[in-house]
Amino acid sequence: MTRTVYRFVDYKVTQDPTGELSWAIECVSGDEADCGESFGETDEDKAVRWAAEHCRDTGHTRFRRTFADYATVEKRV
Ligand SMILES: [Zn+2]
Repeated sequence: MTRTVYRFVDYKVTQDPTGELSWAIECVSGDEADCGESFGETDEDKAVRWAAEHCRDTGHTRFRRTFADYATVEKRV
């Protein structure tokens, strides 16, 4: 039997300020099935505006938001 040894090293994960942030938003309103209409990837303001307009037009009030960023990883010394 082979024994595997894992060595853990600390890494620091930091949001990359040069990376673009993006949001996506999907309507999950509905009794038996989600509405499924979605918007994005986009910036936060446009995602919020889309959800507000979708709510106004349909009465739907529940959304799933996805946020994405970029990160850098560096080994701690
Ligand atoms: Zn909807």
